[in-house]
Amino acid sequence: MKYLVLFVCILFSSNLSFAQEAKPHAYCGTSDEDNKWLDYYLENKEQFHTENDLIVAGMRLTIVGNDNGTGYFQPISILDALCRVNQDFEEANIQFHLAEDFNYLPNTYWNEHADFDAGSDLIQSNPVFGAVNAFISTGAAGNCGYSWQNAVVMAKSCTGPADHTFAHELGHHFSLPHTFRGWEGIDYDTDTPTNSYVNDVSRPIENITDPNCQSKADRFCDTPADYLSYRWPCNGDKISTVTQTDLNGELFESDGTFFMSYALDNCTNRFSPEQIDAMRANIEFERSEIIMNVPIVEVDDSDMQLLYPSQDDVVPNNGLTISWAAVPGATQYLLEVTRHPFTQIKYANLFVKDTFFTISDLPIEKKLAYRIRPFNEGYFCTQWSERTTFETFFVSNTHDLDAFENLSIYPTLASKGDIINIDFSSEKAFQNSRIVFKSLTGQSLHEQEIEVISGQNHFEFIPKNEASGIYILGIETTEGNMYRKVVMQ
Ligand SMILES: [Zn+2]
Repeated sequence: MKYLVLFVCILFSSNLSFAQEAKPHAYCGTSDEDNKWLDYYLENKEQFHTENDLIVAGMRLTIVGNDNGTGYFQPISILDALCRVNQDFEEANIQFHLAEDFNYLPNTYWNEHADFDAGSDLIQSNPVFGAVNAFISTGAAGNCGYSWQNAVVMAKSCTGPADHTFAHELGHHFSLPHTFRGWEGIDYDTDTPTNSYVNDVSRPIENITDPNCQSKADRFCDTPADYLSYRWPCNGDKISTVTQTDLNGELFESDGTFFMSYALDNCTNRFSPEQIDAMRANIEFERSEIIMNVPIVEVDDSDMQLLYPSQDDVVPNNGLTISWAAVPGATQYLLEVTRHPFTQIKYANLFVKDTFFTISDLPIEKKLAYRIRPFNEGYFCTQWSERTTFETFFVSNTHDLDAFENLSIYPTLASKGDIINIDFSSEKAFQNSRIVFKSLTGQSLHEQEIEVISGQNHFEFIPKNEASGIYILGIETTEGNMYRKVVMQ
């Protein structure tokens, strides 16, 4: 039965004229069946008293990609979408908190997800109890999103930082109908008398002044009459440009501020108080298993410090461990490493749970930049750190020697013939070690065999005939290497 209802919904939806480019043709694919829990709630509101304290709702977010691991919603877009949805639910005092790590799911059929057969298969194959089950995929059965079978499914193209479809679908998930309930699939035409729609509209039509508002349309009295079931633009006052006529002959415009209307995203900014009461009651009485007993911890991103590399450092292109200072409140970081100036190429673009990450195969002799965006499982509205730029030199493989401490190379600004001192202490002796002097391309210019002793070591190195520029001076042993940058004048 649900299949049939949904199918009919899509057929009608394909006539939409306000669908935006690059978005699925239809907006919301949620079934227009009455929600039985809402029926009972509206009849028995006195049984559903809730405090207005913060509700932390667990969410399991599945990011669907292709079989080969491509096509995922980008990490930055995930954070922006979760930030937006928590902002949209702030007035309701409901906040979403990840119940588990992001669930990456490589499956092209589910990702493309052209119809509700694929959608049902996706949802039923990936159930979760105790959290809102949300999916973000490339397709969403031809819609921007839908709420169905105890899950919310979002199309990537409708889940941008300024989009409110996620809030809309979560509103459905928590029992809310459209503000234009009953008009789904019917194109209101100002030239057609409203009373001629009475037999086609599936709920009693609400008038703009209506003493029986609690039994008409969406049955909320603080969401006024709205007959517009297609995506519509609003004017500067966030009301519809289309004037409608109710059954009493009164003229009105639709309120575009409601997430549960079909007004465009730049109009919508709220749930009504009655809608909020219904959602909170739905969570507390019908879905209490999703409530998490955890606080929302704010992330203080006011003073983020990138530690290594430092600005303008020259560092190895392999085995480079990027590190930053822990940000108060953060449990995870989005790390991004790009060319500088920015060229779209990203050498790292991933979530990291530590305050460091080791990266290999960076390009050689290039200017690169890195930055972080901190967050935690319930707080996503953070900003990026500043970028730190650095350059790379070639090493085939490197890791810092744990056995060495306090490697000091000085001066690091030298002229031809200067003595460069190399001091360090070692936990043990190393045979077959050497001092190496290299170009940034990794070409070895000088090598000097040394024997490292246990304890304090001191070596001297005199560069000869080197052109001005940046070079790499270091110690290579069978157990690992350490390098420092030297600038020849
Ligand atoms: Zn909807």
